[in-house]
Amino acid sequence: MRRGFPIVISGPAGSGKTSLCQRIVRGVRRVRYSVSATTRPMRPGERKGRDYHFLDERTFKQWIRVGRFCEWAKVHDYYYGTPKDFLEETLFNGNQVILDVDYQGRRAIRKEYPDGVYILILPPSFPILQKRLRKRGTETQESLQKRLKGVEKELKGLENSDYLVINRNLSKAVEAIRTIILAEGFRERGVQLNILTKAWRKKMGVNL
Ligand code: 5GP
Repeated sequence: MRRGFPIVISGPAGSGKTSLCQRIVRGVRRVRYSVSATTRPMRPGERKGRDYHFLDERTFKQWIRVGRFCEWAKVHDYYYGTPKDFLEETLFNGNQVILDVDYQGRRAIRKEYPDGVYILILPPSFPILQKRLRKRGTETQESLQKRLKGVEKELKGLENSDYLVINRNLSKAVEAIRTIILAEGFRERGVQLNILTKAWRKKMGVNL
């Protein structure tokens, strides 16, 4: 079976990453969502284990010590991390894993998984991003300011991305990401071509 590949979605808060990931998992075959761990308090409407594994700081640090994270970072005062086991097991089973991480997470995952697909999501403009964040209504003034400042940092990560998707319209952005995932499924990833070529040679009885 072909090993799966990670699909890393990043971009500033308010770019629509969460909704995009949810729609992709629902609509694209064999794509699973990597639920991160965080020390941030739960927002209304969020559910334990579905949106995040909500941990206290002590437990989070323990997970770091015992090596349960493939990467972790401090984002806007809280810790966030990607559990390693789920990622590895899912890839091993031939499924794709979609991850929503910040620019630090993207950099760390890219080092370990150079074969992954790295997609940066941007809102159409800065005023639209501000509007989306305010509309969300879950942010205090202080955390809103921090998130707006974080935009610059996210943009610096452009060079670490393979694709840029501007999220003007959710359905169109989902369609763009779905197309990327489908195309990337055909990308030759190392050893597999040798195996395929050998099998094909045998089947066709050719000796090239
Ligand atoms: P939020 O608190 O709004 O859900 O997420 C804040 C930021 O943390 C977002 O940019 C999100 O992509 C990032 N984030 C979520 N999970 C992880 C993770 O496991 N690792 C890293 N590095 N960033 C994450």
